[in-house]
Amino acid sequence: MTGNTARVQAVQNITNRCAMPAKAPETLSSLWASDVFTLAKMKESLPKEVFKSVKKTIETGAGLDVSIADVVALAMKDWALSKGALYYAHVFYPLTNATAEKHDSFISVQGDGSVISEFSGKVLVQGEPDGSSFPNGGIRSTFEARGYTAWDVTSPAYIMTTDNGATLCIPTVFVSWTGEALDKKTPLLRANAAMNKAAHRVLSLLGHTDIAPVNSSCGAEQEYFLVDANFVNSRPDLLLAGRTLFGAAAAKGQQFDDHYFGAIPERIQVFMQDAEEQLYRLGIPAKTRHNEVAPGQFEIAPFFEAANVATDHQQLLMTVLKNTAKKHGLVCLLHEKPFKGINGSGKHVNWSVGNATQGNLLDPGSTPHSNSQFLLFCGAVIRGVHKYGPLLRAAIATASNDHRLGANEAPPAIMSVYLGSQLDNVFEQISHGEITGSLNAGVMDLGITTLPVFTKDSGDRNRTSPFAFTGNRFEFRAVGSGQSVAGPLVAMNTLLADSLNWVADTLESNLSQGADLDTAILKTLKELIDAHGAVVFSGNGYSAEWHKMAVEERGLANLRTAADALPVLKEAYVEELFSKLCVLSPIELASRFEIYAEQYILAIEVEAKLVVSMAKTGIYPAVVKYLSELSATLSSLKANGVELDSAPLSHIASLLASLMASVEKLSAALKQHDFATPEAHMQFCAQTIRPLMDEARQYADTLEGEIADELWPFPTYQEMLFIK
Ligand code: ADP
Ligand code: MG
Repeated sequence: MTGNTARVQAVQNITNRCAMPAKAPETLSSLWASDVFTLAKMKESLPKEVFKSVKKTIETGAGLDVSIADVVALAMKDWALSKGALYYAHVFYPLTNATAEKHDSFISVQGDGSVISEFSGKVLVQGEPDGSSFPNGGIRSTFEARGYTAWDVTSPAYIMTTDNGATLCIPTVFVSWTGEALDKKTPLLRANAAMNKAAHRVLSLLGHTDIAPVNSSCGAEQEYFLVDANFVNSRPDLLLAGRTLFGAAAAKGQQFDDHYFGAIPERIQVFMQDAEEQLYRLGIPAKTRHNEVAPGQFEIAPFFEAANVATDHQQLLMTVLKNTAKKHGLVCLLHEKPFKGINGSGKHVNWSVGNATQGNLLDPGSTPHSNSQFLLFCGAVIRGVHKYGPLLRAAIATASNDHRLGANEAPPAIMSVYLGSQLDNVFEQISHGEITGSLNAGVMDLGITTLPVFTKDSGDRNRTSPFAFTGNRFEFRAVGSGQSVAGPLVAMNTLLADSLNWVADTLESNLSQGADLDTAILKTLKELIDAHGAVVFSGNGYSAEWHKMAVEERGLANLRTAADALPVLKEAYVEELFSKLCVLSPIELASRFEIYAEQYILAIEVEAKLVVSMAKTGIYPAVVKYLSELSATLSSLKANGVELDSAPLSHIASLLASLMASVEKLSAALKQHDFATPEAHMQFCAQTIRPLMDEARQYADTLEGEIADELWPFPTYQEMLFIK
């Protein structure tokens, strides 16, 4: 329901709301991973040989011995039943940023009508959801409906509980009958494998003989908004599109900087504690929580984990945040830009690569100039971002993320690398052909004797950079808050794999020409930084000078919208990258372009339709009512000899006429469907539909400030952001 009555009711409901009943706090040790079928639980419940085999697959990537599946399934079922689960679900990640699950009961009906619980290795290992309703980007026709899910042993099974029951959830990949990946997990596992292989080559050339599997790690910082559900229910835009399509700015926004890291409001803290408790049960290491920059905006960051597990956990985290918010009468908005005029939300993806024998390969140590292993891996990242920057941009290209990128609150759409002063200097030395030393970070002496003197980090942070080195990892800061982190991780691991292969090839060739290892390394690094140093930038990424310099002098791409960025997925060099590293076949890659292009178009069309309907059925009637009341009052006053200025009347009438004219143009634009290509359709959305939506909004937001508040049909920014 919308309208002013709903708005008033919403405020009343919130004012009279009862606090959530307090729960007795539990200890971390009793909560931690209690709903996860962990290695420790497997060790307890599996025969020794079976356990060893599963553990080997998980820890070293060794092939899964399918003959053990029955034994594992039995143990998993017993554990799940002991937790009250009656159902199990293969959980998979279709190409929509969402999580999908098909639930089946453990029930098996016997000949005599009785039932038993049954769960065999066969159903643990493989499922067959009818995949025809998931986007497949032309991989299958609808009559070829078969899709398979297959157990991913490397991501632990867990229990999802509701107040009334529990379900055993098994992370899986999702592929078509013809074997093509229809999901986000399969390419991530493949990209990791390609990176591992390439990293091995480089580490071997550096003389290592004991090399454990190299894996990538991910720690994702999740920003989100919380708005009371009463308000969301009376805002069709928030309900269906996750962002406000209308709404005048409140008098107060984030200009006082009083929300960032401020004391967390009690209602929110109760919500956070509830969510964190569930995350702990699910073995998700929630670590940091705080208020973000905008009013109503918060952040949660779990401790980093192996990329595949972190990705599954990220999906779960989004689900837990949304579900828990609902229980607390709130709605968790994961949209990148729910409110105009205040900051939007991102998801910083912290990423590093390493293994058990050589440690974090992106850790420079205290003297990076003498750490050639680090320099080669860091250099490989630089080369990768330079060569495949547009691909990284495409990996974060969504209709919603376009509202944030380049808007002086998030990095621009130009992909560059920030290294910090110490590493800038080392790579500068390399380009001069000689490495002599590392700049010292120095100590921080505050001159107050009671305070400790501490060492500074060797480089400052740069929040304007999309891809920043932050001490022992890179932070991809342009990822959208509502996105799966799988796509960005696939892009990062794949471009790194390609670069590490280049490093290995170049080292091999330098060595075969008789150079000693140190000389071969320096030569390789110099060649790399001479060719790719243009992507390194330490200055202000928000500045207009950088945007000009990046494109004109450095030849970097500035793909402003997703409509500009997504076609990169069709470029020959991107297709070659993915197919030569066996991450995505040309068909799989093409399907991704089709799907993401379609999602972009659909997202904008849904919003545009909402703009039309909210303007016609909400704003127009309210303004007309105000105009009629106002004109009646003005006439009756005039009849009584009191003459009020009628200028507001005509001003409002003309604003309304302009609004409706924009809305008509938008309606007409929405009827266009004859586009030669998805690219053309996307450009039409970016260049025609979006500007028309903005135009309509501008008139509507002005009207919001002109007519009687008691008639305005939608909860205002002031209400949504400040009433909790
Ligand atoms: P901030 O960037 O705000 O200082 P933190 O230091 O808390 O944040 O780290 C942000 C995220 O980076 C966390 O999820 C953290 O676990 C993760 N992180 C830390 N070290 C690494 C690493 N080596 N590889 C990947 N992620 C990491
Ligand atoms: Mg950070």
